[in-house]
Amino acid sequence: MGPVKKFRKRDQASSISSEDLKIFEAGLRGKLLQPRNDGYDEARSIWNAMIDRRPAYIVQCKGVADIISSVNFARDNALHLAIRGGGHNIAGSAVCDDGLMIDLSQMRSVRIDQEKRIAHVEPGATLADFDHEALAFGMATPLGINSTTGVAGLTLGGGFGWLSRKYGMTIDNLLAADVVTADGRFITASKNKNPDLFWGLRGGGGNFGIVTRFEFQLHQVRKEQLCGLVFYGIDDAVEALKKYRAFLETIGDDTAVWGVLRQAPPLPFLPQSVHGKEVLVFALFHAGDPEEGKKILEPVKNFGKVLGEQVDVMPYVLWQRAFDPLLTPGARNYWKTHNFANLEDEIIEAAVEFTKRLPSAQSELFFGLLGGAVGRVPQDETAYFHRKDNFILNMHGRWDDPHDDSKCIESMRDFFDSTSKYATGGAYINFLTQDEKDRLRTAYGPAYNRLLEVKKIYDPENLFSMNHNIDPKG
Ligand SMILES: Cc1cc2nc3c(=O)[nH]c(=O)nc-3n(C[C@H](O)[C@H](O)[C@H](O)COP(=O)(O)OP(=O)(O)OC[C@H]3O[C@@H](n4cnc5c(N)ncnc54)[C@H](O)[C@@H]3O)c2cc1C
Repeated sequence: MGPVKKFRKRDQASSISSEDLKIFEAGLRGKLLQPRNDGYDEARSIWNAMIDRRPAYIVQCKGVADIISSVNFARDNALHLAIRGGGHNIAGSAVCDDGLMIDLSQMRSVRIDQEKRIAHVEPGATLADFDHEALAFGMATPLGINSTTGVAGLTLGGGFGWLSRKYGMTIDNLLAADVVTADGRFITASKNKNPDLFWGLRGGGGNFGIVTRFEFQLHQVRKEQLCGLVFYGIDDAVEALKKYRAFLETIGDDTAVWGVLRQAPPLPFLPQSVHGKEVLVFALFHAGDPEEGKKILEPVKNFGKVLGEQVDVMPYVLWQRAFDPLLTPGARNYWKTHNFANLEDEIIEAAVEFTKRLPSAQSELFFGLLGGAVGRVPQDETAYFHRKDNFILNMHGRWDDPHDDSKCIESMRDFFDSTSKYATGGAYINFLTQDEKDRLRTAYGPAYNRLLEVKKIYDPENLFSMNHNIDPKG
């Protein structure tokens, strides 16, 4: 590729003349919002209510041309720049103070090429948008577990969900991406075109440019799959988790079972006496034949005394939304995360003890299970290096009252610190908060140096800095 154009330093920013602003606005198909405009507050609100930032300008892009104009405008006027896909990132990097926010949430088209089994996805699409279109053709690709999450941010950080043990991470199914770079060029990245960029996009976050189209490999899936939940009391949780660990040795790629520790929601199949009590929940999923799956998953109901369960064949699209009611936007959220290679006794015991003193009713610990196809991809194939870490623990602090901020944040940090010694040190960048800059090198792991080289080529002036940033200055 050719040299990247130089642009003004952000600390040399001059104020933008109303004439320049008018010209910029007139050239857009989407809307330009400023703080005085209707819709401004809605556009700057994201999933995590802890984030309350006020961009000077929000561009609600309607297409690639708007994105190119906005990148050029931000660069030429030395504006701080933030990119919003689905607005779910816990660090709140979708919104900046002052500066310009490029809001992609109106670009949600998903086009399925049935013959080639490929999905072309715009950068504002949510997982629900993607699943809705792909499942109409009986197809899917691995995505996350909350349907309102954006495809863009999820993919750029790696992406994992129920189908990952069978088909790998979301990035393992990315075939190509169209990208607007810092100097306003439009290029395609794939294994054959700009392969260095393609490598970096797959796990390096939004560091290198704005993706305007994702191209994914699809897989034929059953429209109805075996899925469900099995609940145990907290006093049985240590034993149940140890049995779970042994059970995982017996399952194949079709099967995924994740463990959640939290207070029981008021689900109709749970006795009322269990509602609000600390519990261990196993979330079960089987991508193969449901009758076969029932046999494989039967042991999960024999880890102790089951308090309640619902395991059934249901539309996959509904299972993809099953956790949405617990993950609605508008609450205050603070996360910490560890990767683990194995579930050691010490982690199990510490997690169960911590669950007995969760700082709020909505907080939870979530052990996501990877392995299977995820672990068979060579570690240097993509920028997500931690292929051998079979568990990603999300310590999800969630509450409503701002007075509880410090109590909940401190509690999550304490648990994180006390379990660090059992973790691998690698991390899933999509679960990192904004105050974890000092963790970035270890979070990216051995991929960091190569990411730095790619950053220097595609964004040497760090226009795209609102992310888990690879600073080109090293
Ligand atoms: C409730 C909840 C459940 C989740 N569950 C899962 C899960 O099961 N599996 C999983 O893997 N992850 C999961 N995540 C994490 C999720 O992958 C990240 O939060 C991800 O960043 C969300 O993407 P987004 O587009 O919604 O976010 P945004 O906040 O809009 O974007 C995040 C960042 O990505 C970059 N970005 C966004 N769009 C673009 C683009 N088009 N081009 C370049 N950069 C861009 C920007 O830097 C932006 O700041 C979950 C998150 C939440 C809140």
